[in-house]
Amino acid sequence: MTLAAILLMLVSEVAMATTQLPQTVAETSLYESTSRYDDVIAFVRAIQRIDPSIRVETFAATNEGRELPLVIAGPPGVVDPHSAFATGLPIVFILANIHAGEVEGKEAAQMLLRDLVSTHKKLRDDVILLIAPIYNADGNEDISTTHRTTQNGPKAGVGVRENAQHLDLNRDYMKLESPEARGLVANVLDRWDPLLTVDLHTTNGSYHGYQLTYSPCLNPDAPEEIIDFSRGTLLPYVREQMKKQHDRETYYYGNFEDQLAPEKGWFTFDSRPRFGNNYTGLRNRFVILSEAYTYLDFRGRVEVTYEFVHEILGAVEKYGSKMMRIAAKADEQIRRGKLRKLGTRFEIKPWKHNVSILWERSVADENGTPDPETGKGSIKRTGEIVAVPMTDFGIFEAIEKSDVPYAYVLEPDAGRAVLANLQTHGVIVETLTRETTLDVSQFLIKEAIAADREFQGHHERTLIGKWKTREVTLPAGSLLIRTNQPLGRLAFYLLEPRSDDGLFAWGFFDDELGDVAPVYKVTKELGFEAERAGHDR
Ligand SMILES: [Zn+2]
Repeated sequence: MTLAAILLMLVSEVAMATTQLPQTVAETSLYESTSRYDDVIAFVRAIQRIDPSIRVETFAATNEGRELPLVIAGPPGVVDPHSAFATGLPIVFILANIHAGEVEGKEAAQMLLRDLVSTHKKLRDDVILLIAPIYNADGNEDISTTHRTTQNGPKAGVGVRENAQHLDLNRDYMKLESPEARGLVANVLDRWDPLLTVDLHTTNGSYHGYQLTYSPCLNPDAPEEIIDFSRGTLLPYVREQMKKQHDRETYYYGNFEDQLAPEKGWFTFDSRPRFGNNYTGLRNRFVILSEAYTYLDFRGRVEVTYEFVHEILGAVEKYGSKMMRIAAKADEQIRRGKLRKLGTRFEIKPWKHNVSILWERSVADENGTPDPETGKGSIKRTGEIVAVPMTDFGIFEAIEKSDVPYAYVLEPDAGRAVLANLQTHGVIVETLTRETTLDVSQFLIKEAIAADREFQGHHERTLIGKWKTREVTLPAGSLLIRTNQPLGRLAFYLLEPRSDDGLFAWGFFDDELGDVAPVYKVTKELGFEAERAGHDR
């Protein structure tokens, strides 16, 4: 044998070895460790060597300079959004590791990717998968055994919740102050327009009997049909499959108001779109928040998360075309200007009474620990799971509404930050090409209250006042945001002066807050001479 032939043989043996399916760090460490950023990148590269049709895009670069991968797994020929839309297939986005202490989604996402090039390859005939396995990469690299100490593993520690700016990425969907959130919104949600987003987390709170809890969009400003189909068909189907195929108990996310008195009720969390699940609904798309049970061991959490995602994909195979019709209808409804009023402030309320919720019997014990949800009292778990009838406070309702205008208009000096924010979301902004006189309503500010408590670097602002109609002459260059565009609900939520999570609340207009809110509402459809504002992401 010549030297060249020997070398060739060696090279092909190496190639053989690398085409073996890779293992995750969770698997190779027997679930004592979680993957680092480099491990995830190496895993994705190994998958691409096995199946070169798996594509990877970078959707953002973090503060510490890490490029965030978006893995695309569809049928052959799907290389970009255009070719993806042309297939007519549903696009499902799996988002893992938004909170980098909650690590099982990152492991399950890698395992899913491996199965998409092997055992579950056929899924890719029916669904286009987008996977962001390691969203909060900077937080992930800050691994310590002192993080999330009440979480049941992995032993070698986990990362932190926040990104390198100390921002919680799951509170950044509206204000977009992190490069991660800006990239996610612009380059994944806006660019690929996924029909369904699955957002993978781990719980922190109550002791209950569910291995995983979940939530659809909780904001009532999202299209009713999307929420109804999620609660009426999609989630019940997935829950049933989790029980039937995997003998897993799952239910809507919640916590007991009082671990020692479960009959007081089961409460979901928040309706504001700073949270990804609520934000996605305002984009007229489906979303499922997944929360693996933190007291389950690491392996169990990875497995239940994997099973949940896999059953969701099965549900999309079954209901995907119906879901696409519902989403398209919601877009169309807005395009036709059918929205009259939407909520600006919301309150939690009962969804169903007398629901059997699985409670872990807990008793008062002076040597116990505080209620993990409320931080109060001193309690001990018993390990016994009991079904207790109670009210499920699982939904929100608007306690204040505002008219949806034909358009919002902002003066040209409204600020680059506002324009950049709107455009990063994908909201279409136009500029008036000439001076225009309009009948508008404007919010007269009586008080602009800043919250005492600082949150994510802000003292959130609440405007008190009333609406007044007037005539106003606006100069050329004023910004025009019509609400009859697919992201009209989101534009409303961002620009309404009384919105509980809009740009007023986050201080974007603080420098211009005088007696009036610097956003006009144009209530009647008019022929504007306007052109699309330059794109400035
Ligand atoms: Zn989380």
